[in-house]
Amino acid sequence: MSVIADGVTDVRRAAREELRKGATQIKLFASGGVVFPSSGHSTRYEYSEAELAAIVEEAQARGTYAMAHVYSDEGVRRCLNAGVRSIEHGNFMSAETMARLRDHGAFWDPTFISLIQRVESSQQHGLSDQIVGNLTHTITKGQEIYARAKELKVPICLGTDLWGPEAQRSQIRELEVRLQLDSPDSILASATIVNAELLMQKGELGVIAPGAYADLLVVDGDPLSDLKILLKPRKNLRLIMKAGRIVKNSLDEPTASVGR
Ligand SMILES: [Zn+2]
Repeated sequence: MSVIADGVTDVRRAAREELRKGATQIKLFASGGVVFPSSGHSTRYEYSEAELAAIVEEAQARGTYAMAHVYSDEGVRRCLNAGVRSIEHGNFMSAETMARLRDHGAFWDPTFISLIQRVESSQQHGLSDQIVGNLTHTITKGQEIYARAKELKVPICLGTDLWGPEAQRSQIRELEVRLQLDSPDSILASATIVNAELLMQKGELGVIAPGAYADLLVVDGDPLSDLKILLKPRKNLRLIMKAGRIVKNSLDEPTASVGR
């Protein structure tokens, strides 16, 4: 799943190797994570700008891009300078760095639910109070910077960082968390047209148009006025079409019988 490489030559080789093996994008671990005891960062950044630029160059050579797991302000700046397209987390970005992100034409993927799920499952995984405190603080910082991102019209994506099938069940709840910070139409845009643009699949994903993938949902209710109906997919998704193929269809059933 991951490769550790140091120095421009080795990170370039590692990026090329992953891309040759068929990686569609390169994800960088560009600063320390937040599941550790200190209130600061284990590392403010992991790579020199020359290393980051080499990885970005290799991805761009194959028509794709690099994204970065990065929390710290300095880490984000380095990534932006090197041409990283997508900032995952970025909770400790300053307002000024958020403006730079916009100016660089990059995307921001806040991934709140991955942190919230870590807090919720902290006892089960034996995380200390100190780590839980660090996670909670990180969530708050991300929420604070969200308003700034909205103000600057930064493209905000909807992604994941949930590890394993159990944790991934929480994915849909990112919508609920965002609802405290954003409007339903803007959240749905994050999950569809903005994500499509980040993934370089504009016109294929996130739109209903000839030649597009036809990943379609028929929803019982109007998610633009009540986004929470999407939190109960079994009940409220009446039809699911993936790449033009129907995966679920309960349109013929009366509404009351749906939701088993
Ligand atoms: Zn991450």
